[in-house]
Amino acid sequence: MTAITPSVDLDRRGRIAVLTINNPPVNALSQHVRQGLRDGVTQAIADAAVGAIVITCAGRTFIAGADITEFGKPPREPGLHEVLDLIESSPKPVVAAVHGTALGGGLEVTLACHYRVGVRTARFGLPEVKLGLLPGAGGTQRLPRVVGVEKALQMIVSGEPIGADAALNHGLIDAIVDGDLTAAGVAFAEKILSERRPLKKIRDLEDALAAARGKPEVFADFRKSVARQTRGFRAPESCIKAVEAAVNLPFDAGLRRERELFLELMASPESKAQRYFFFAEREAAKIPDVPPDTPAKEIKTAAVVGAGTMGGGIAMTFANVGIPVSVVEISREPLERGLAVVRKNYEATASKGRLTAADVDKRMGLIRGTTDFGAIADADIVIEAVFEEMAVKKDVFAKLDKICKADAVLATNTSTLDVNEIAGATARPESVIGMHFFSPANVMKLLEVVRGAKTSKPVIATAMSVGRRIGKVPVLVGVCYGFVGNRMLHQRGKQAERLILEGALPQQVDKVLYDFGFPMGPFAMGDLAGLDVGWRIRKGRGERALIADRLCELGRFGQKTGAGYYRYEGGDRTPIPDPDVEKIILEVSREQSVQRRPISDQEILERLLYPMVNEGAKILEEKLAIRASDIDVIWVYGYGWPVYRGGPMFWADQVGLKAIKTRMLETQRRHGDVWQPAALLSRLADAGKAFLDAS
Ligand code: NAD
Repeated sequence: MTAITPSVDLDRRGRIAVLTINNPPVNALSQHVRQGLRDGVTQAIADAAVGAIVITCAGRTFIAGADITEFGKPPREPGLHEVLDLIESSPKPVVAAVHGTALGGGLEVTLACHYRVGVRTARFGLPEVKLGLLPGAGGTQRLPRVVGVEKALQMIVSGEPIGADAALNHGLIDAIVDGDLTAAGVAFAEKILSERRPLKKIRDLEDALAAARGKPEVFADFRKSVARQTRGFRAPESCIKAVEAAVNLPFDAGLRRERELFLELMASPESKAQRYFFFAEREAAKIPDVPPDTPAKEIKTAAVVGAGTMGGGIAMTFANVGIPVSVVEISREPLERGLAVVRKNYEATASKGRLTAADVDKRMGLIRGTTDFGAIADADIVIEAVFEEMAVKKDVFAKLDKICKADAVLATNTSTLDVNEIAGATARPESVIGMHFFSPANVMKLLEVVRGAKTSKPVIATAMSVGRRIGKVPVLVGVCYGFVGNRMLHQRGKQAERLILEGALPQQVDKVLYDFGFPMGPFAMGDLAGLDVGWRIRKGRGERALIADRLCELGRFGQKTGAGYYRYEGGDRTPIPDPDVEKIILEVSREQSVQRRPISDQEILERLLYPMVNEGAKILEEKLAIRASDIDVIWVYGYGWPVYRGGPMFWADQVGLKAIKTRMLETQRRHGDVWQPAALLSRLADAGKAFLDAS
């Protein structure tokens, strides 16, 4: 065995050279890996005793992509193109032997090889689109030459990997192998030599492209089919253009076109935001005073209190990952209703072919309904999701305190109540934590983990780790009204109300946010969630929202009553602007002696988003979020902030804090002190700094 570089070894098995990459944790294509591949292949080609070459990886996976820490830095030799060229033009056959995942640059390495084999569990994909990029090392040119144009488009534009069986069916790999992978790769290479199989260079293959030649409708249809999911993103269209180039241009010209499109994307604000967000999400897992070695409790059984909208969804997230979960209710009736909704949800998924009937039964089997609190005495974690009333919550926590085992984590899903006060209903406030799920709880990825004043570090570590286990993105926040996400949303909501009072209409406000990239604006969202929810909360807090309250008084609660800020027809969810609402709005403006005026889209955007950013700054000052990027993770995963704009704090940095401060001061003169810039925003703006420099 010869070490070519610290991460690449060259070995000989008879007449087969084996290059093994060992660059933990995921064998990313760092500079020393590229150099090792180049020098190793060069040596093997020069060695007269070598007949063929196998490229394989040590550890848990094949090359799982580029080394993204090299992004944005000056390129270091050798480039991946040079290495792939060398592999593809090798006079001796090169075989890639894949386990784990061959992703991005990793799959592109295999596509430069003449043959590919993989173990049955191997997966193959080009996820670059998720970072706002395209596969820039020939992936868009070689993949369609192997799997055909439609499959390539689907893989490159979705970024989703495929399994070994699909890879074999589509010709992406030549065989599925069992047993020791290196030995299997060597045996396959031997077979090629003994059968004198030709060198299969993908660059020379044309047949799979022929079906799409002279047929622009193939691309037009594909564009149409992905238009909804890809709205606002830049990379998917560039991916499609690159595959079009594969079909319409000779290979080398296609590669040049791919390069051009890649560089354009690399410099685009969308990709910059998406790459930023990739790191932001990983960063959110880190809690400075709760290091990774903090002992987290292993969760073997869970319990949920309340089988309503949230409780049912939360129970599903546990059952989905195989954790048995008890659901406790006050009586049989709401329990049975709640469990029936859960079953209906699973059956809807099954009817789309995404679960089998056996899966549905298995998951329902893990959810045990009960009206006996005693039945949850052994649960490792209990998540309370009862009515949003302090007295009810305290009562439940006092009961849990008596029943649950000493080391159980006691979590509340409250959205607006004080977690410390709830913890105070127990004799073990260190075990109490907020786990704020978003609706629908089985779908939404965000989980705000709310740290109480007395919550212990192991309890925080446990909530974060079980959150990840049930497929959520947990972000740690502190106790305040609305926590991070809803507290900022509240600011946006207040401005949305003001804007329609001053001269805009709901449809104009909503369109501005939709065009910005949100799935919907605040009024359509209010109608979807139910306007009565906010009405009830406002009444409890002695607050008013003139127009929303007026609509609720008329029984217009949103989609569920067929009318809210919009009207809805025949059970359809499409919001239709309603002249009656316009009349109400004009009336309220008149009553308030507000002189209505035309309001520009730009003003709407600034009025909605700047107060949110300002609130985010206050949240950072108050240390209720660990870092600005955590706020961005909350907004992307919980509120539909478009990931290609990074999140509110990243976006504010791009706009420039100085510009935002200036605008806020101008608005403060007209609209009063709600527009006063937060101290942190003001300080950073004056220093010419950004939120992301500060945290
Ligand atoms: P819901 O009214 O749909 O369900 C509450 C359930 O709790 C009911 O089925 C009720 O029978 C049950 N319950 C009441 N008292 C109980 C008790 N003492 N013991 C056992 N069960 C009891 O309410 P929801 O929308 O699911 O909200 C539940 C919690 O989740 C609230 O704290 C709410 O603020 C929070 N939350 C709601 C949303 C949302 O969008 N609905 C989002 C995030 C958080």
